Amino acid sequence: MPRRTYNRVVAEDPDIRGGIEDLRERIRYHNRRYYVEDAPEITDAEYDALYKELEALEAGHPELVTPDSPTQRVGAEPLEEFEQVRHAVPMLSLANARKLEDLREWDARVRRLLGEDEEPQLRYVTELKIDGLAVSLRYEKGLFARGATRGNGAVGEDVTANLRTVRSIPEKLSDDPPEVLEARGEVYIPLDRFEEFNRRQEAEGKRPFANPRNLAAGSIRQLDPRIAASRPLSVFCYGVGEGGERYESHSATLDALRSYGLRVNPYKVHEEIGSVVEECAYWTRERGSLGYQIDGVVVKVDSREQQRALGSVAKAPRWAIAYKFEPLAAHTRLEDIIVNVGRTGALTPQALLAPVNVGGVTISRATLHNEDYVKEKGILVGDEVVVERAGDVIPQVVRAIPEERTGGEHAFEMPKTCPVCGEPVARPEGEAVTRCVNARCPAQALEHIIHWSSKAAMDIEGLGEKVATKLFDLGLIKDAADVYGLRPEQLEPLEGFGEKSAENLARAIEKSKEQPFPRVLYALGIRHVGTVTAGLIAGRFGGEDLLRGVSVEQLAEIEGIGNVVAQAVVDYFALEDNRNLVERLMAAGLNFEREATGPSEGPFAGKRVVITGTLSRPRGYFVERLEEAGGTFTSSVSKNTDYVLAGEEAGSKLEKANALGVPVLDEAAFEELLP
Ligand SMILES: [Zn+2]
Repeated sequence: MPRRTYNRVVAEDPDIRGGIEDLRERIRYHNRRYYVEDAPEITDAEYDALYKELEALEAGHPELVTPDSPTQRVGAEPLEEFEQVRHAVPMLSLANARKLEDLREWDARVRRLLGEDEEPQLRYVTELKIDGLAVSLRYEKGLFARGATRGNGAVGEDVTANLRTVRSIPEKLSDDPPEVLEARGEVYIPLDRFEEFNRRQEAEGKRPFANPRNLAAGSIRQLDPRIAASRPLSVFCYGVGEGGERYESHSATLDALRSYGLRVNPYKVHEEIGSVVEECAYWTRERGSLGYQIDGVVVKVDSREQQRALGSVAKAPRWAIAYKFEPLAAHTRLEDIIVNVGRTGALTPQALLAPVNVGGVTISRATLHNEDYVKEKGILVGDEVVVERAGDVIPQVVRAIPEERTGGEHAFEMPKTCPVCGEPVARPEGEAVTRCVNARCPAQALEHIIHWSSKAAMDIEGLGEKVATKLFDLGLIKDAADVYGLRPEQLEPLEGFGEKSAENLARAIEKSKEQPFPRVLYALGIRHVGTVTAGLIAGRFGGEDLLRGVSVEQLAEIEGIGNVVAQAVVDYFALEDNRNLVERLMAAGLNFEREATGPSEGPFAGKRVVITGTLSRPRGYFVERLEEAGGTFTSSVSKNTDYVLAGEEAGSKLEKANALGVPVLDEAAFEELLP
């Protein structure tokens, strides 16, 4: 039996089926307004309410769940490997123009090939070249059926499950799409979301991604779709493979894609090459003004007939060319290397540079990542260096220019003591990062307060980096708990504060006490504990439990929590200073209550149960009964599974349960355990 009974529509209650379909239509409409047209009509809260309503209805009627339902974007189960997809129409690469003159040469060649004498009516279309991952999106009868990577152009990988999680890719097309439409586009990550993601990554002690393209490509090429679902992916469509014959021009193709509800970037039509050159020159200057990265401008002959006449050569069409920007790089002098101490105590070497203009932005600092990076690159203090804006975001020193050395340069040494608190630093074996391990280190305290009030944590408006630093420097706050002792009358006399802003901040601080426990746990800034991990832990243990002492084994029993995270949590609560902080935060009225996901009592309390095979009733029925009895429904069998409820024709999950020695229940045995 298939994992989900998608098509077995039971006509027992037409009202519910109609209600579900109606909700789906409304959610699809608002998805399109929000993710594709960037013009939402309802608030996030209203959207969430619709979504939750649909989820609840579907949970009660799993037989009515269809693959095109908006709820199916959360990420299906992990795959063993990607299947290969042969593109019906190859995904060609484009010839490159490095200089603006190359565009004029290309134009001359196009005119020659089309027959100059006839003075062809030529029109060009320019589009921004999004720096992401090229994908193919196949729609059959208007429904998203398969997504694939470009691969080598002839064969790509089937990444349907991952692409289903991208909200700007509609599950269902509107208007009147062809029977088979294979749209092509670029999956990317907006810059602000990328920076936010990296900040979180660093806060969790994980390695940040070099640029948005790497993050986008890495997310799409994950076997576990839940990872893609957690990444801020978006898409721009720019062409059609299969099904594209019906459009007379490239611009008509783009208009059609937009009318189907696919996300298309604005394009421009040009009557002559001079205007194309201007457009390319414009974006070379203004590339930094967009909310996403582009690495060039694509120019195409608009008319499909002329495209056909021009044809392709060596896998690249003659009718298109990509004007590629030079990477944003510059030479400058590395004047000194200083060391920053982050919230997690990580010491990061930073290059102080002679100020230099890189792509319109003046750079005077750049990251050197860590001690090994400086050594491997052979970078000396005083060197002439090449600085790049990696993915145009974070400036970094990419290499030294040894030929320009004068002999006055010297090697960088990582300090043996913390530059902020003076205590000895440590570099654990096998790790690239040197850390200050003093829990009372002021650098960590201030960074921690900033993290505490950040958006994903307690979200205290008005307590950003600047204000926090000021209050910290004045000695008004030394740690996160002190924030709750601040009085408006203390703030009011401070520079930049008035009566109103002092009151506003006091109110925002008070309001943060309503934040749920998962946020509080995340805000504590325990290494490796991100928002998702915090939610998992908060579902099992409350603040009191954690203070009383929870073992690595107990934590690692939670699905999704590994030993590294578990150890980090245990280490955190083992420290006296941290325990004091938590106790003071509790006393200040912050929420440390376990996020109950179900009753903690009952015959299945705390038990993880996998349900598989064909049962006498819809799976949702058994899930409900299980949850009423305190159990948790999980989707995959592991050594942490307590029971497997197996129906007829249970497949690999049953085999795995037997192999791992997990107790298997049939329906009768399951019912017997229920109260
Ligand atoms: Zn320190």
